[in-house]
Amino acid sequence: MSHEAISTLSSERFQKTSDKPSLVIVGSGMATGRLLDEIIQRSPNTYQITVIGDEPYGSYNRILLSSVLAKETHYKNIIQKTPQWYQDNNITFVPNMRVTRIDKETKVIYAMPTNIDELTADTKNTEYAYQHLVLAVGSRAARIPAKNQDLEGVFSFRNILDTEKIESYSKNKKTAVVVGGGLLGLEAAYGLALSGIKVTLVHRNKWLLNRQLDETSGNMLKKVMLEKNIDFALGEEIVQFENTLNASQQKIISGVILTNGQHLKADMAVIATGITPNAELGKDAGLSVNRAILVDDNMQTSDASISALGECCEHNNETFGLVDPIWAQCTSLATQLTSSTPHAFVNKPVATKLKVSGVQLFSAGVVESSKDTQTYTLLDEKSGVYRKLMIKGDIIVGIVLFGDTSSGMNYFDLMNNKTPIKQYLPELIFGHEYMESMMNDSESMQAA
Ligand SMILES: Cc1cc2nc3c(=O)[nH]c(=O)nc-3n(C[C@H](O)[C@H](O)[C@H](O)COP(=O)(O)OP(=O)(O)OC[C@H]3O[C@@H](n4cnc5c(N)ncnc54)[C@H](O)[C@@H]3O)c2cc1C
Repeated sequence: MSHEAISTLSSERFQKTSDKPSLVIVGSGMATGRLLDEIIQRSPNTYQITVIGDEPYGSYNRILLSSVLAKETHYKNIIQKTPQWYQDNNITFVPNMRVTRIDKETKVIYAMPTNIDELTADTKNTEYAYQHLVLAVGSRAARIPAKNQDLEGVFSFRNILDTEKIESYSKNKKTAVVVGGGLLGLEAAYGLALSGIKVTLVHRNKWLLNRQLDETSGNMLKKVMLEKNIDFALGEEIVQFENTLNASQQKIISGVILTNGQHLKADMAVIATGITPNAELGKDAGLSVNRAILVDDNMQTSDASISALGECCEHNNETFGLVDPIWAQCTSLATQLTSSTPHAFVNKPVATKLKVSGVQLFSAGVVESSKDTQTYTLLDEKSGVYRKLMIKGDIIVGIVLFGDTSSGMNYFDLMNNKTPIKQYLPELIFGHEYMESMMNDSESMQAA
């Protein structure tokens, strides 16, 4: 529905029920769930809070959708905030409602039910007035430059509804293509392969997880995933999805054509090539936007009454796709909303793990060596263990571990705390136990 059409609709005003300042949050995803917890913990009565989300649920643990697809858990176990929770905390929760417009001059937002596709004479916007507005609208699955990707049987993997659709469509299917060899694509491929489907993962880079792993560890990962009934077309992209007609004469996917001309049979496909921040709502309202909605260190947008956080925001040229930095954003914003004290968000390095049973990998910081880094590697092909540390000056700047990640958090702490490590080289590469025994030795020598 076009914005012009929406703006001509009649409206009804949502009634405020208290004299407290009104804090309206758009999006009921992971960032909002955490922000609410942090606000309630600090000062539960400062605001009259309204949360408007376009999904049918309150905040849920989106991370665990991979485990839902792998049948390791069920949707009902990943819901973090039930309607009762909002009620108990005096928060007005409006599910199934999409915010379509922000008028920052009058401080009013306009929303309409998610399931309305066509305007009728009875269609109405609901208006919500705010004193402070938080945009936490996340992102959506990126589209790929391939023909026919809107065919029946081609899915994204972003929310509970997508996961339900994938699960239901995959029943009795024999072959699937997953597009994207990042964390999400690998987890989707693993989930489908577990239900007995022959999965081919198509990835445009020459090795998997190329943003987190180097070629050696990427190839080790491929070897492990091959044993999990997943095939690979690496260094390839999809040019086109092919179709056939089902019993109801509807066009459904039947395969894909790759850049090298190869045809792959596919009864279904999942596209997991990355995310696009939902920046349009902010952009249309006149907020400063680049790839996502621009925020400063205090999560404030270019309008002092509007904050943004999570995957829809951009801070110092960085956008976000993992929850660790988003939790830090929530702490920053909750502190300011409840105490007016600045609490700057600092974007710290994040460690990556893959949620595929039996695969141990850990990656943080830089992945490839450069001319100003020293690299220490250890490869034990027989036991499938690989370690690589990249050191700049005296400080760890990159960690890649495969097969044994037990030292991951130790290395990560050294990296984050910028601890000088030269004295522990080259033994540091053997793992944290070596380092700890060296530290103990030097302490006992000093004591003697
Ligand atoms: C399958 C999967 C596995 C993942 N695994 C990991 C992991 O292992 N580790 C990790 O750190 N991260 C992981 N992530 C990423 C993590 O889930 C996200 O970083 C996090 O959910 C972002 O939180 P958010 O609140 O910004 O966005 P979201 O959680 O996406 O919430 C945004 C909400 O806003 C709603 N919305 C959008 N527009 C509107 C509108 N106009 N009006 C009303 N509502 C709107 C959306 O529908 C959504 O409900 C994973 C993501 C997926 C999909």
